[in-house]
Amino acid sequence: MKQPSKPRAKPPAAPKIGFVSLGCPKALVDSERILTQLRAEGYVTAPAYADADLVIVNTCGFIDAAVEESIGAIGEAMAENGKVIVTGCLGAKGDTVRLAHPGVLAVTGPHDTEGVLRAVHENLAKPHDPYTDLVPPQGIRLTPHHYAYLKISEGCNHRCSFCIIPSMRGDLVSRPVGDVLQEAEHLVEAGVKELLVISQDTSAYGVDIRYRTGFWNGRPVKTRLYELARALGELGAWVRLHYVYPYPSVDDLIPLMTDGKILPYLDIPFQHASARILKLMKRPASSERVLDRITAWRGACPEITLRSTFIVGFPGETEAEFEELLQFLRLAQLNRVGCFSYSPVEGAAANDLPGSVPEALKEERRARFMAVQAEISAARLAAKVGRRMTVLVDAVEGRTATARSAADAPEIDGVVLIRNAGDLKVGDFAEVIIEKAGEHDLSAKRVEAGV
Ligand code: SF4
Repeated sequence: MKQPSKPRAKPPAAPKIGFVSLGCPKALVDSERILTQLRAEGYVTAPAYADADLVIVNTCGFIDAAVEESIGAIGEAMAENGKVIVTGCLGAKGDTVRLAHPGVLAVTGPHDTEGVLRAVHENLAKPHDPYTDLVPPQGIRLTPHHYAYLKISEGCNHRCSFCIIPSMRGDLVSRPVGDVLQEAEHLVEAGVKELLVISQDTSAYGVDIRYRTGFWNGRPVKTRLYELARALGELGAWVRLHYVYPYPSVDDLIPLMTDGKILPYLDIPFQHASARILKLMKRPASSERVLDRITAWRGACPEITLRSTFIVGFPGETEAEFEELLQFLRLAQLNRVGCFSYSPVEGAAANDLPGSVPEALKEERRARFMAVQAEISAARLAAKVGRRMTVLVDAVEGRTATARSAADAPEIDGVVLIRNAGDLKVGDFAEVIIEKAGEHDLSAKRVEAGV
């Protein structure tokens, strides 16, 4: 028998946008493009200021009279509605718009459909309609549903001699902070429990756009790592920072860790410890007083986990320089470390450096490096036995769950094996007490929350 189909839930009301289009036919075409894109995304136009959730004014700045008309139109929209985005030629005339109307939400120049749409998304998010949107708001993800990578920028301003990423991906381009935060919000709404912030150089976020102020849910947020991390910390998920170079500004992140806003975890690719090798590598922030900084971070946040990667056998690396690296490891007592033996990448400047290290010696150094670190890692993990911690479950098999603590990033760090998983499911947080420690992983028993 044919079953009656379920009644379709009422879709959320579409957000309404008022639009004022001034100027020449070229400006008119810009307006058409913006309106077309808005309609395609599910926004509708409002016939009156009072009906609109937000107003866009496309301005003209050609002659004085046109400037006056545009300024007047913005003023009217501000008075009648109060949420105004300005675009068009007047927007390209320095601070004219902001001097006349400091309260406007955003100002873009002509032919900037993308900029206008970005400002609209930042200030008036489009509600997701599962019946008409083919792609969920958090996008399609290849990671398990409980964690997700959040890419905050593309490209890199550095020119490390062993790396060809800048030649492939260009200089740093930071994503608008409003877009990043909105994506993060959608991810958390979709069930993501852990956000892994990634880029080529996370500490440099916003440098390319001079830390411009963006908007998230109508609230101003600077395009800078501290502000981004603080805002991400409000979403209620774990926030883990990767590829953080030790610029002085990184010190500001530590209080966010001690306050529990973001995970006490820093992934800092140091690559080497010898000043000469770092110079040959052309590494960013290589002259910062790394050991002193590590001591200060640990003093302020004893829980902090420091992860890093290193390259051994870089061209010209002497035995003494390699020993310096081992000594650094012993002093820094990093929690997690990855080590690669140098291998030339086609097109990398380091290929032209003299003193290539024989393969067998590179491998020998790598083995010695890993042996030193294995001892450090084992000792640091052993110190965790008996401690209670919160972990996030990645997998459950029979009575055993594989989970991670704040100290463990997925795929690259260790795990916490829980022997009495009970009813735990993937993506659950659990309270455990550590019973045993190995070189990389921990074993634990689950305890009831609050006990
Ligand atoms: S290795 Fe250096 S050049 Fe390559 S992406 Fe990282 S910071 Fe940029």
